[in-house]
Amino acid sequence: MTRKSFLKRLSTLPILSALWPHLTGSAGATSPSPSPGTRVLPSDPAWPNPAAWEKLNKTVGGRLIKVESPLASYTTATDDAARAKILKDLRNPFYIGDQPGATQSTGWVDAWMSAPSVYAVAAQTTDDVVAGVNFARTNNLRLVVKGAAHSYLGGSNAADSLLIWTRAMNKIVLEDAFIAQGCAASEAPQPAVTVESGAMWIDAYHAVTVDGGRYVQGGGCTTVGVAGLIQGGGFGSFSKKFGMAAAGLLEAEIVTADGEVRIANAYTNPDLFWAIKGGGGGSFGVLTKLTLRTRDLPDFFGVVIATIQAKSDTAFRDLIHEFIDFYRDHLFNPHWGETVSCSGNNQLAITMSVQGLAKSEVENLWKPFFDRIKKSPEKYAIASDPVISALPARKYWDADFFKKYAPEVVSPDPREGASDKHYWWTTNNNEIGIYWHGYQSTWLPETLLAEDQTPKLVDALFSASRHWRTSFHFNKGLAGAPPEEIAAARDTPMNPAVLNAFALVIIGGGGPPVYPGIPGHEADITTAHQNAQKIGQAMSELRKLIPRPASYVNETNYFEESWQESFWGPNYARLKTIKEKYDPTGLFFVHHGVGSEAWSPDGFTRLKT
Ligand SMILES: Cc1cc2nc3c(=O)[nH]c(=O)nc-3n(C[C@H](O)[C@H](O)[C@H](O)COP(=O)(O)OP(=O)(O)OC[C@H]3O[C@@H](n4cnc5c(N)ncnc54)[C@H](O)[C@@H]3O)c2cc1C
Repeated sequence: MTRKSFLKRLSTLPILSALWPHLTGSAGATSPSPSPGTRVLPSDPAWPNPAAWEKLNKTVGGRLIKVESPLASYTTATDDAARAKILKDLRNPFYIGDQPGATQSTGWVDAWMSAPSVYAVAAQTTDDVVAGVNFARTNNLRLVVKGAAHSYLGGSNAADSLLIWTRAMNKIVLEDAFIAQGCAASEAPQPAVTVESGAMWIDAYHAVTVDGGRYVQGGGCTTVGVAGLIQGGGFGSFSKKFGMAAAGLLEAEIVTADGEVRIANAYTNPDLFWAIKGGGGGSFGVLTKLTLRTRDLPDFFGVVIATIQAKSDTAFRDLIHEFIDFYRDHLFNPHWGETVSCSGNNQLAITMSVQGLAKSEVENLWKPFFDRIKKSPEKYAIASDPVISALPARKYWDADFFKKYAPEVVSPDPREGASDKHYWWTTNNNEIGIYWHGYQSTWLPETLLAEDQTPKLVDALFSASRHWRTSFHFNKGLAGAPPEEIAAARDTPMNPAVLNAFALVIIGGGGPPVYPGIPGHEADITTAHQNAQKIGQAMSELRKLIPRPASYVNETNYFEESWQESFWGPNYARLKTIKEKYDPTGLFFVHHGVGSEAWSPDGFTRLKT
C-alpha cells in the first residue's frame, strides 16, 4: 500500500474517526504518554495518532497495513459465489497464511478466538522489524509476531495489537561452508541453510532436499513456519534419526525489545541462543533469519500404513500389547517415527515413517507382525491392507512427484498463480481452520517400554482410548535417537523429559471452523465442552503413569497446569533470567510464554514486576 492510499484509506474509516477525533488536521500532534503497567488500547488517548502511524508507515517503506479479518469481505460480498469462494479459500492453509488477519486454527473453546490486529508491519527487511519493535515499545502497544500462524495457543494473534508479520521474509540460501559469526577459531565450516523467518518448511525442504539433495530437520506439516517451530523445539517425521529441529540451529538474527539487531550463536549472545532453541516463540524478540545445519540425505524415506480392527475389548488389549512388543523389539531406533493411534472402536491405526531402509527391508521387518495378526482371524481383521512404500528421499517434498504418483496424499495450493512447489499433506485437512475442543500432550518415558511395564502401558492406553482417540508420536521423543542428537537436544531449554521419552502422546480434537457473525458457522459449545472433558479423561489415564508429566510447548494444552514446569522443567529459572535481561519491560508476551505470569491473560496489564 502506498503512503497516499494508506492515508486516504485511514481518513475514510468512520470507526477510526470516531475513536480519534484528532484524526484530521492534527498530523503533527504528539500522543499523551502511556501509563506504566497497562498497554494502550485504540480507545485510549495515548494511542498513537495518525501522524505517528504515518511516520511508521514511511519508515517501513509503505508496508504498514490496516488489518482486517478475511471474514469482513464475506460480510460485504454481494453474491453467493463470492461468499463460497471466501469459505473455500479459508480451507487452504496457504491462503490463511497469506492473510494478516487470519490464523490456521479459528479458536479454542473458553480459550481464544482468532482476532485481527489493528495494524501490521508486513516486514520485508530486518529494518522493518526494528521499526515495528521500536514503535510498539515507545508507544506501549501490545505487540504480536506472526509467521505462518499455526500456533495452537493463539500466540500469533491479539485484538487491539500491532502485528509484526514476517510472511514476506522468506528467502532461503544454501551454504556449503557456514561458520557462525565469531566462531571461526573454534568451529569447522559446515553445510547449512539460512532461512528468513517467515518461510514455511515446504520452501526450506524444496530448497534443501529437492533442489539441493540434502536434509534439514524441520516439522512434518509443510505449511508450518520455520521460526515458530524452531523456537518451540520442533520435530519432524525423521527426528528419531536427526534429532530436534532447534538442536540443529547454528545461528539466528534477532531483534530484541530494545530494537537492537543481535546475532545469537554458541559464542555470541549464547544465552539468547540457548533460549530460542525451545524457549517458545514470541517471547525473546523477533527472529529475522535462522541458519540450520544440513545433513547427508538418506537414500530412502518411506511409510507403513495399516489399520487393524480388534474384534473385542480383550482382543484390542492383546493387539496393543502385540504392537508395543513389536515397537520395542524392532522399531525403537533411528529408522522409525510417526504415529500409532488407538480408538474407542478398537482400531489400531498405524502410520509409521521410515528413513534409510529399502522397501524390501521394511517388508521383511514387518512381515512377522502382520503374519501374527493374520493368524488370529477370530481376534483381528485387517481393516485397511498394509501399504508399504519407500521412495528416493530426494522426492519426499517434490510436489510434481506426488502429483504424478500419489495425488491422493497431497493437496496442491489450488489458487491461480500459486507456487507449484506448494502442497499440504491431505492428512492435515481436518486441522485447517479447526476450532479446538481440547488438545493435550505428554512425553512417555522409555522406562514404560520395559517388558515388565508393558501391561501397565497397555492398560493405560486401552483406558484412554475408551474416552478419546489416543496417538503415540514416536518421532517426538528422543529416546532411541543417536547419542549425539540427544546431547544436542540437552543443550536447549526443552524439558529434559524429551531426552528419555520414547514418544509424545497427543490427544486432541475439535470441530469445524468457527466464523463469528457468519450464520451456520457458530461454535457448538455444548459438544465442545463434552469433548474437552473426554480428552482430559483420556490424557489423565496416561498421566497416571508419570510422576511429573511434561508437555511439548508447540503442541500442548492451552490450560496446561504448572506450565512452566511442564514445558521447561528445571530450565525455566534460567529462561526467566534471560527474558528479564533482553526484555525487562515484557514487550513480548504470549499466553504461557516465559515471563507471561507477570501479565493479565490478554497481555495488556502488568500484574507484577
Ligand atoms: C497443522 C499443524 C501441524 C503441525 N505439525 C507439527 C509438526 O509436525 N512438528 C512440530 O514440532 N510441530 C508441529 N506443529 C506445531 C507448530 O510447530 C507450532 O504451532 C509452531 O509454533 C508454528 O509456527 P508458525 O510460524 O507456523 O506459527 P505462528 O502462529 O506464526 O507462530 C507461533 C509462535 O511463534 C511466534 N513467532 C512466529 N514467528 C516468529 C518470529 N519470527 N520471531 C519470534 N517469534 C515468532 C509467534 O508469536 C507465536 O507465538 C503443527 C501445528 C499445526 C497447526
